[in-house]
Formats: sequence, structure tokens, C-alpha cells
Amino acid sequence: MAEELYYDVTVVGAGNAALCAALAARDQGAAVAVLEKAPPSAQGGNCPYTGAGFRFTHTGLDDLKRLVPDLAGKDLSHTSMAPYSAEEFRRHLTTVTHGDTSEELMEALIAESRPTVDWMHAKGVRWELPVQGSVARAPSTIPNQVGLAAYGAGPGLVDMLTKAARRNGIQVLYETKMLKLLQGPKGEVNGLMAQDADGVHTIRAKAVVLACGGFEANAEMRTKYLGGHWERAKVRGARYNTGDGHRAAMEIGAAAAGQWTGCHGTPIDINAPATGIVKITDSQPRRSYPIGIMANVAGRRFMDEGEGFAEQTFVKAAVAVLKQERGIAYQVFDAKARPHLEERYGIAKPVEAATIRDLATKLGVNAAALEATVSSFNAAARDGDYAPRTLDGKAAHGLDIPKSNWAIKLDRPPFVAYTVTGGITYTYGGLCINAKAQVLDTEDKPIRGLFAAGEIIGGIFYHNSLRSGGLMHGAVFGRLGGIGAGRMREE
Ligand SMILES: Cc1cc2nc3c(=O)[nH]c(=O)nc-3n(C[C@H](O)[C@H](O)[C@H](O)COP(=O)(O)OP(=O)(O)OC[C@H]3O[C@@H](n4cnc5c(N)ncnc54)[C@H](O)[C@@H]3O)c2cc1C
Repeated sequence: MAEELYYDVTVVGAGNAALCAALAARDQGAAVAVLEKAPPSAQGGNCPYTGAGFRFTHTGLDDLKRLVPDLAGKDLSHTSMAPYSAEEFRRHLTTVTHGDTSEELMEALIAESRPTVDWMHAKGVRWELPVQGSVARAPSTIPNQVGLAAYGAGPGLVDMLTKAARRNGIQVLYETKMLKLLQGPKGEVNGLMAQDADGVHTIRAKAVVLACGGFEANAEMRTKYLGGHWERAKVRGARYNTGDGHRAAMEIGAAAAGQWTGCHGTPIDINAPATGIVKITDSQPRRSYPIGIMANVAGRRFMDEGEGFAEQTFVKAAVAVLKQERGIAYQVFDAKARPHLEERYGIAKPVEAATIRDLATKLGVNAAALEATVSSFNAAARDGDYAPRTLDGKAAHGLDIPKSNWAIKLDRPPFVAYTVTGGITYTYGGLCINAKAQVLDTEDKPIRGLFAAGEIIGGIFYHNSLRSGGLMHGAVFGRLGGIGAGRMREE
């Protein structure tokens, strides 16, 4: 790379949000470069790890058919999808975030969701219905919240957007890492410092769009913001999302927004890799704990495993596991529960024993303590079989920690234990932006020349995230930021 380069717009990151920003800036006539810290094989950060579902407003199946050319001429009379209105979208996002989501960003997200999906389509993103297997075998009602998924899931999405970028003359510079932002005399962002194999370079630009993901792969930042228990978490996605954009922007006075103590996570196999591997990431979560018990290395339970379905509690469960000694726990099941475990437990290596005492010994857990835990649990629990898809109301009370559902005695050997820890998916806290994706300073003024989109922004997710909302907001604010950044080339 030359010592000093110039592009009208430089985009940091090469995932969904970044590539949407780059394409939108190019639409404005800007010369655009995209910097990607990773090699081409790992391009796109967390994006390739997703199923690439998008949540947006639509008016039902006939409406979506226009965006899925593969459906032309196919008989879909056996299936239907209800419209997904702005009002529903608003209600869902407000509910999962307990009303903390930024109203300004939410309204922009909802209003721009559908136009952005159409625009991505026009750029070459091929869509498909979010049904598993063939459309011919689609259920009679397809849930309406996630209207479409990109063809080929996350890897397909990155591939299609990258090809679109290339077709549009956008340069993607791989293994090129943004180090810091540069400012002009009035505080405006006018470039950045980047590092590649040849060394450190200056890239001048009229505007920079930061779309370089969250800080989930940075143990120091996890510890600082999420809490010490997250230090040893397994990273489910990319190793490259280390909060570089958060730090660079805040160094020049950008404001923080959103829930910096919040993240998405899950109990995960103790043998999961330290950072994600696309092919196996989906097989690593361990979410059948509601039909068993979880014990820590001291042999004690530490949470109500049956508070609700795993979908409602798994983030909380990841936190609870990480807070235990060594950040690990044992999910213990008996022979009645075993056939009901999620399919992905099939690849795990449990410890098995005929008695709880032997199980504890094999695990290296205090045997008397685990025996006492199981026997007091059994004394409060019921007889019966598991119905994992029904909140059965079979509760165990009178324990230090109750179990609200599926409290069925652990009494049929052999017993098995799966060792788990906590895995982090992505972080919620980030940069403060406005509805035009301009990064704001701590006095709420836009920092001239600086835009941000995707996981790097804060203010949308709090406490929980909304399924398929991450990619959608990345695309919406990526596009808006790209438009704003592209227009600055004239100034
Ligand atoms: C296992 C898993 C499953 C998920 N499932 C879903 C789902 O089903 N639906 C959904 O909506 N979301 C899902 N997500 C979240 C989703 O992946 C993110 O919301 C989305 O990928 C964020 O997009 P982004 O473009 O902001 O960041 P990313 O896609 O993570 O891209 C960030 C990019 O920045 C690059 N980068 C980082 N630092 C630098 C630097 N200093 N210089 C240059 N480049 C840099 C990275 O290499 C990467 O290419 C999931 C995440 C994971 C891990």
C-alpha cells in the first residue's frame, strides 16, 4: 500500500453493515475503500455465523414473492404468512428491550427496513423464505416476523454483498486494520491510520464509516464493561471484533450509547473453541438445562433452571454459569430426560455413571455435596415424565433455589453430566448515533465526517436482542451512513 491514500469514503469492516454503507456511498458517486482486518477467508466478522434472517415490515407472502424470483410459478396455496406491520415491529422491539430502546433509532429502523431490503435486492442480494428445507414442505403458516433470509445464509450474504461491491468499483483491502481516526483543524474526521503487512499508512477521506462490529472478542473490554465473569467466556463468533471502532471513536470524543453492560450469550460446551468456527458454532450451545439441574464445582445448584423455556432464559443462564467458580457448571440429567435433549447434545462428550456419587467422583466434584443437592431436589420434585415443549408447572419449592417447571425427580440411572461454560455472541453497548447514522459527541453534536452502523452502535438492544434485528439495523444504518458519507465528497 502507498504511504498515503485518498478515498472519498473509507469504510471500516467488511460485514453486512459495512458493505451496505460502501454500496450506498458509491451510489452517491463517491470513491470508496473498505478496510477488512481479517483475511478473505474470515471476512465479515459475525455475519457469516448468522442464518441471515431479516426482520422488516411487509404485507404478507404475495408481497415477498416479488423479492424471491425462485418462487415464480410455485404453488404456495398451502402456506401463508401474515403481514408484519410497523406497529408490530415497534411492539416487539419495545417489549424485548423493556422500553429502553432509542425511539429515534427504532423509528428510523422500522421506517427504513423495507426500503433497505428492496435496495439490497436491487444491489444483487438474493432472498429466500425463512423456511427450513424446501418451500413445498413449508408449514401452513410461516411466522411473519422474519420475512426473508439471504440466500446461502450469512456466508451467502457476505459473498453477494462483496460481489456487489466489486461490481460497483469498491476496493476491499484485506488484512488491513484501522488503528485510529484522524481529525482536521475543526475536529472533523478526515481520515484514519491503518496497518497492513507493509506497515502503517494514512488514508485520507472526506468521511469514515465505522462498521467494525462489537467488542465481544476483547477479553479486556468484556471485563471492563460486562463484568469480570465475562473474561473467560468463549467467543461464538469472529475473533476480529475487538472494539477497535469503539475505542478509536471515543478517543476523539464520541459519546457512548446503549447498554454497555449487556450482551447476548448462551451456555456453551466447555470444549467449544475459544473463538468461533463457522461450521461448528451452531452445534455448541447447551440449552436443555430446563429439564435437568445445573450444579457448580461445589456440587450446588445456583439458578432456577425451569424458570421458563430456554429461549427466554439462556442469556441469563450463561451469566449465571460464568459467575460460578472457574466459570463452569455441570448440566445433570437422568435417563428419562436424555431422549429429550436438544439434538446438538449428540456431539458432546458427557460423563456418565450409574449413581450420582460416581458421577460426582468422575467430575471431580465433592460427591457428598452433589448427592445432597440431588436428594434435596428429589424430595421437593415430582414423579413423572418430561414434556419439554409445555410449561408444565411442575415446580419444586422449599429449596434454597426453587425450580419452577420440569422439576421431575432425577432418579433413573444412568446419570449424565455435560460440562458447560458461557459463550458470548455479541455486545449491546456502542457508539451514539442519530437517525442519519452520524456519530454524536458527548454534547450530542454530530462529529463531522464520522458515521457508524451495525453492532458497533449502541441504543437499540437492551437486556435482550430481537431475532434477526441485528442484521436489519446494520443494513439500515449502514445504508443511511453510506448515503451521508457519500454526499460529503462534494463538500
Ligand atoms: C453465532 C452468531 C449467530 C448470530 N445470529 C444472528 C441472527 O440470526 N440474526 C441476526 O440479525 N444477527 C445474528 N447475529 C449477530 C450478527 O452477526 C451481527 O448483528 C452482525 O453480523 C453485525 O454486523 P456488523 O456488520 O455490524 O459486524 P460484523 O458482521 O461482525 O463485521 C465487522 C467487521 O469489522 C472487521 N473489523 C473489526 N475491527 C476492524 C478494524 N480495526 N479494522 C478493519 N476491520 C475491522 C471484522 O473483521 C468484520 O469484518 C449472530 C451472531 C453470532 C456470533
